[in-house]
Amino acid sequence: ERTIQRIAAGEVVERPASVVKELVENSLDAGASRVAVSVEAGGTEGIRVRDDGVGIPEDQLEAAVAEHATSKIADIDDLEAGVGTLGFRGEALYTVGAVSRLTVRSRPPGAEAGAEITVEGGDIGEVRPAGCPTGTTVEVEDLFYNTPARKKFLKRVTTEFDHVNTVVTGYALANPDAAVSLEHDGRETFATEGNGDLRSAVLAVYGREVAESMVPVDWEPAAGADEGLPANRVTGLVSHPETTRSARDYLATYVNERYVTAGALREAVLEAYGGQLAPDRYPFAVLFVEIPPDEVDVNVHPRKLEVRFDREAGVRAAVESAVEEALLDHGL
Ligand code: ADP
Ligand code: MG
Repeated sequence: ERTIQRIAAGEVVERPASVVKELVENSLDAGASRVAVSVEAGGTEGIRVRDDGVGIPEDQLEAAVAEHATSKIADIDDLEAGVGTLGFRGEALYTVGAVSRLTVRSRPPGAEAGAEITVEGGDIGEVRPAGCPTGTTVEVEDLFYNTPARKKFLKRVTTEFDHVNTVVTGYALANPDAAVSLEHDGRETFATEGNGDLRSAVLAVYGREVAESMVPVDWEPAAGADEGLPANRVTGLVSHPETTRSARDYLATYVNERYVTAGALREAVLEAYGGQLAPDRYPFAVLFVEIPPDEVDVNVHPRKLEVRFDREAGVRAAVESAVEEALLDHGL
């Protein structure tokens, strides 16, 4: 049974970045105002996420790493909204613990002392007292040590770190209220201030030149707009047409506050720049799109961030208008 569980977990946890995504999401769910991520060797050797959130009471630590651990499923809609990350809700820590050495250490505010629990390849250990600050620290070591087939699929350290960086950047930009930091092999990659300002978060992540070149997007369909534009609102920041990079990794898109990838959104952004971009150059964009939830399919692929839209052409047109308008407003 343990073997089956391990193989299933290896199917679901694809790479270090998938672990980081789940841990950061948990920290933000816990109301953290600081989330510090640090990884070793692109996350292949170690991952640590520390937060100052509500913590996990000692008597709930074991449940948190057990199967079906969730404290969050309120109704069937929540369940549906939750599918699309690691398996179902309440499985992330359990699944990660099946394919690594996982330690969860926590102290809720007000608790006199902290406690920790370790899971090794699915074996759940005893809860022990642990000295720790308020909040939760999750450590993942030796990811895939017991699933060599999965370990073989890992790419070079730099590639794995790129994936980790993309994920942490995505959450940092979506949550400017939280101070999010990332460290690789002991060196800081970025640290946002958590002052609530999106441009300040962009500055921390992408640097001054990019942050200063960005113009605000704030679009709503005109009153009585045609039915083909299902987006309710598009907000965010997009860069000057000359502030570009040669990779398209700098388009961070969010649908209903959820970090997603959608070809349609990326294409709409590029379309809006029209002929202004030099060949093979891509702009920076951080865009939040609000769409009626029943028009978004988040379950395209259980492991990925992909979404699909019922009225894709309409969403695309809305995003294109939003970006075009922002550029025009600033004489770009
Ligand atoms: P889910 O997030 O879907 O509930 P997880 O396996 O990711 O499932 O986490 C299990 C439970 O552990 C959560 O429901 C939550 O109660 C608790 N938990 C996990 N991480 C944290 C954290 N960083 N801070 C506070 N509680 C946490
Ligand atoms: Mg979770």
